[in-house]
Formats: sequence, structure tokens, C-alpha cells
Amino acid sequence: MANHSQIRDMNGPHPFTVKLLSWYENHARDLPWRAHPEPYATWLSEVILQQTRVDTGTAYWHRFLNAFPNVKVLASANSEDVMAQWKGLGYYSRARNLHAAAKAIVHDLDGQLPETAEGWKRLPGIGPYTAAAIASICHQEAVPVIDGNVQRVLSRLFNIDQPVDRKSGRVAIEAAADALVSSQNPGISNQAWMELGALVCKPKNPNCGQCPLHSECLSRAEGTTRDRPVKQPKKRPKDVMVNFDVKRRKIGSGPLEWWIERRPQKGIWGGLESFPLVMTETTTPPPQEDAIWGPVLHILTHMRMNAWFHFSEIQTSHDAGGEETEGLWVAVTDSHRTWPRLIDKVLMDLQNQAVKN
Ligand code: SF4
Repeated sequence: MANHSQIRDMNGPHPFTVKLLSWYENHARDLPWRAHPEPYATWLSEVILQQTRVDTGTAYWHRFLNAFPNVKVLASANSEDVMAQWKGLGYYSRARNLHAAAKAIVHDLDGQLPETAEGWKRLPGIGPYTAAAIASICHQEAVPVIDGNVQRVLSRLFNIDQPVDRKSGRVAIEAAADALVSSQNPGISNQAWMELGALVCKPKNPNCGQCPLHSECLSRAEGTTRDRPVKQPKKRPKDVMVNFDVKRRKIGSGPLEWWIERRPQKGIWGGLESFPLVMTETTTPPPQEDAIWGPVLHILTHMRMNAWFHFSEIQTSHDAGGEETEGLWVAVTDSHRTWPRLIDKVLMDLQNQAVKN
């Protein structure tokens, strides 16, 4: 069945899209994955840029593509190497899902990347946004891409007063996006809407004077741009306390080492390395003792974490974990380790203190 864009495109693209495309031709950023869009490289760029700024993301995109130039190489890599290449980008579930999807492509699809949005959506960790972006950019499928930028632009352009994170608002945004995507050039038109949000219709200070849709924009005319998009009030992040069990040792003239264990795949910092930890939902600090350090406040999107570090000196050349755990002694200078940013920071501080003493 033809969608709105195909029916309307019989008479040419929507007039808003025509204006937008002419703006895009002159203002699109020169990003490396845009020159010759290829599904694997486009997929990487979309996943990396989901929670990362373009300048940082571009460096990681080159680095990742260099280490894993195609889906087969990525599928056969071990997870520690994948995590090591991702190190510093945060939101490690993206790397785990990329790796799992690459394995699924090689094992279940004979190494062939999907060519439709529906096909992409069947892979681990790939949602409607990423699927639509790859299918429209690389395979010219006329599906709209709705990311935060597009959501903001459309909610302002059409002055949508329903919360965009509720069903009513989502439906309104989807209908608008569906009507605006060009069936002849869906990849370019999708990228143009996203680019308008990234460069002009910015969250805090939209540059309406430079906007190609200045005269069409309803929220600009009504003076509501600051109030769009409408969102439901955010839930307060929950307060948690994390107690880290920090064992360290120094054997002979060897380096100072720390006992690190790999976290379970599910849950916070899944698959990363960490000091053994216990997390509880409380704001009450632990009883004070000599070898304790904290609290270190660490804020994630859904929680405010007060971290406490309990130190003990170990005089053994053996493992320091229980029978059920797998871990190892590591020196902080080992740059291949994949621990959360909080641990990275704390370890560097501790190492610096050790050098000073
Ligand atoms: S006129 Fe202003 S608010 Fe409206 S779409 Fe353009 S930049 Fe956004």
C-alpha cells in the first residue's frame, strides 16, 4: 500500500520539503559517511551518533571502522576488543548490541545486511529510528526518520501542543513526518530534516532568521517556539548508594595493581570491568571506617549515584575473588581495560596519589 509520501509525491515533494532540500544543498555538513552511503558504515554512524556529539562521534567512527572494516570482522571479534574500541563513548549497551547484531547478520542472514527497515528492526538493539535511517539513506525506502531533532522541528513547524513522549504527540509527529518524506529522495530528505534541527532549529535558541521554513512555521508565528516540543515532566532520578570493594596489592617491584571483575551482561555497566560492588537505594552513607573514600557523586540519566570506596591491602599473588567470580589483577596503566568512566576517573586519581606518595 502506498504511504502518504508516495501518493503526494505523484505531484512532486511537499512544498516544505522542496524548500528544505534547496537549503540542505547549500548547508549540509560534510560528514564522512555521507559521501558514499554504504549500509555498514551508515549503521555505525547512526549508532555512534545516538548519544554522542558529531565531532567526537566522527573520530570514533573512523576508529571503529578501521578496527572492524566490515560486518564479518565485527562478528568474529571478541567482545573485549569491541568494548575497548568503544571505550570513552559511554552507553556501552550500544557496542554490545552492535556486536550482537553483527553476529546475527553473519549467522542468520549469511552475512547479508538487511535492505528494508523491517529487516533491520529484527536485529538486536535496532529501533525504528536506526532502521528507517539506514533503509532510507542506503536503499531509498520512503520511510520517515524521527529522531530528537526531527521531533523538535516538526513540533514547532506545526505547533503541536501534545506531549511528544505520549501517544497523541507521537501520532501527530509521525503523521507530519510521513507527509513530508520524499518518496523520490527519502534518504536526502530525512537527513535534511535532521540537519535543520541540528544546525538551525536548536533546542534552546532556534535561529529562525536563518530558517528556510521561517514563513511557514506556526510556532514562530504564534510565539510558542520556546514551549515546543511539549514533554511530560521528567521523573526525578533515583538516589542510589554504591559501595565498591577495592582490593589492591603491590608485589615486589611490580606496579600497584587493583582487583577487577567483569560485570554481568545485564544491568548497570553490563559487560564492563569494575571493582566488585554492592548497590542499594538509599541516601544514608555507610558507617565511617579508616580505609573508606567518598562519596563521589556520579550522575547518570536515570540515577544519582553516591559512590563509596572501601580499600583493603592484599598480600597475595593469587586471585582475590570468590569461587563464583572471575577477575584479575590489573595495573591502571593498562589502556585496554574497559571500566566505567567513574572507575576510570577514580583509578587515575588513586594512581596519581600513589605516585605522589
Ligand atoms: S522558524 Fe524557527 S522554530 Fe520554526 S522551524 Fe524554523 S528554526 Fe524552528
